[in-house]
Amino acid sequence: MLEEDFITLTIEKQKNIALIAHDNKKSELIEWCEENKEILKNHFLCGTGTTARMITDRTGLPVKGYNSGPLGGDQQIGAKIVEGRVDFVVFFSDPLMAQPHDPDVKALLRIAQVYDIPIANNRSSADFMITSSYMDKEYDHKIINFKKNIKERSETL
Ligand code: PGA
Repeated sequence: MLEEDFITLTIEKQKNIALIAHDNKKSELIEWCEENKEILKNHFLCGTGTTARMITDRTGLPVKGYNSGPLGGDQQIGAKIVEGRVDFVVFFSDPLMAQPHDPDVKALLRIAQVYDIPIANNRSSADFMITSSYMDKEYDHKIINFKKNIKERSETL
């Protein structure tokens, strides 16, 4: 019974990593990417528009860019998590400045939690994540069985 409520998904050895930084945190994330270039280059990288462009320009790492965060980029990355196409997030958000797209930021954090996606919101967590032995192997995790969830809801509501 409990088994059916969850399904096992695999975060592959080669991960789909999303990189996002608010404006005051962009230089910190670029520096972090430069420091971890040798590891990051073994994975697929994407990010919100400006962050992605700046990382590519300054480090040479290929980063697929979505829209800029305030123009929906965080939502695009959230949608990729739902589709199973983003499975690791480094998001240096700014804790000291209100963002116009705060609801989108919250939505991204929430959906990462729902789908049990590793997400680092500061440098130390990013350091711990990137040096994890799981960076180099598959990782199975259990997420909510969304098909069963719909079936039950449609039958009971
Ligand atoms: P940006 O978006 O990379 O386009 O600046 C980041 C954000 O503010 O979420």
